Amino acid sequence: MKEKFMSPHTYSPDSLASLLLLTKRHPRAVLYAGGTLLLQSGAGGQEPLPQDLIYIGGLEELKRINRTDRYLDISSAVSISSILETGRHVLPSAFRECLEGIATPQVRNLATLGGNVCAGTQRMDAFPVLALMEVRIEIRRAGSSRWLPLNRCLDGEGNFILNPGEAVTRLRIPYDDWNVQMYKKSAVFRAFEEDRIIFCGLSKRQKNTLNEIRFIYCLGRQTLLRIRDVELELTGKSLPLSDRTIDQILEEAKNYCRDIADMEKGRNRERVFSTLKLFLSTL
Ligand SMILES: Cc1cc2nc3c(=O)[nH]c(=O)nc-3n(C[C@H](O)[C@H](O)[C@H](O)COP(=O)(O)OP(=O)(O)OC[C@H]3O[C@@H](n4cnc5c(N)ncnc54)[C@H](O)[C@@H]3O)c2cc1C
Repeated sequence: MKEKFMSPHTYSPDSLASLLLLTKRHPRAVLYAGGTLLLQSGAGGQEPLPQDLIYIGGLEELKRINRTDRYLDISSAVSISSILETGRHVLPSAFRECLEGIATPQVRNLATLGGNVCAGTQRMDAFPVLALMEVRIEIRRAGSSRWLPLNRCLDGEGNFILNPGEAVTRLRIPYDDWNVQMYKKSAVFRAFEEDRIIFCGLSKRQKNTLNEIRFIYCLGRQTLLRIRDVELELTGKSLPLSDRTIDQILEEAKNYCRDIADMEKGRNRERVFSTLKLFLSTL
């Protein structure tokens, strides 16, 4: 039996207003910007391609970067390369390091920040970092817009979910005075299914006291791990942390992670705790 090949229909709106009209008319159409994820079979792209596609990579309104004293606004179709071209002190260092580690310079010229965070069934590199920084995203549809914390866009299974007809238009990164920012990625993109680990840690100190600490892991395709009890327990401790405190905290983290399946893949368990130990020792 011959299979019938249905090529997708691609729309290319020329303004944000026409994009929103299109998404209203075709609420099930799938947006793409760089296409480096969606159009790549085997890289986690959607297969087969959806019937209706909307290309947003050419929209000038979605390619802006604005900065105030309190935050940095990046529109969703700004390429990773363009973000990296902004001044060295404009981007939080952990975010910059994360972007520098994504793919190759050629792919980064096409790949966008919106495409990175909106990937449906997997968490790409920037997501855990931006979720930890409490980034909010602007979501637009015809006639309305709303702002949502990035991590509130995930369903119970960790899939990125928007309502039909919606598009992510901006990401707002708050400026915060983190004293320590650490980013580590343990596997190359293609190898991530089994043993990929992303770590991001942020901390603030006031004199010799740990004022605030946050850390997050992304394990495998989409397991996000943040141990808030441990963060709370560390807050207010004197710095540097003693070896005894670090050992205690590692023990608590190990207990917390006992039942997480992705911890058992490859060398994940060992890597998770050695990264945490390194982070705690640098505070
Ligand atoms: C060789 C290679 C290496 C790679 N290495 C890495 C890597 O190291 N780390 C990494 O994180 N990624 C990697 N990627 C994947 C990809 O390049 C990045 O994740 C990239 O940032 C995706 O952006 P994009 O614009 O190409 O997304 P697209 O493919 O255009 O879209 C991705 C998803 O986001 C949705 N989407 C896009 N924009 C919006 C929007 N505004 N509103 C709502 N939904 C939207 C699309 O519908 C789709 O589901 C790699 C890809 C390749 C080909």
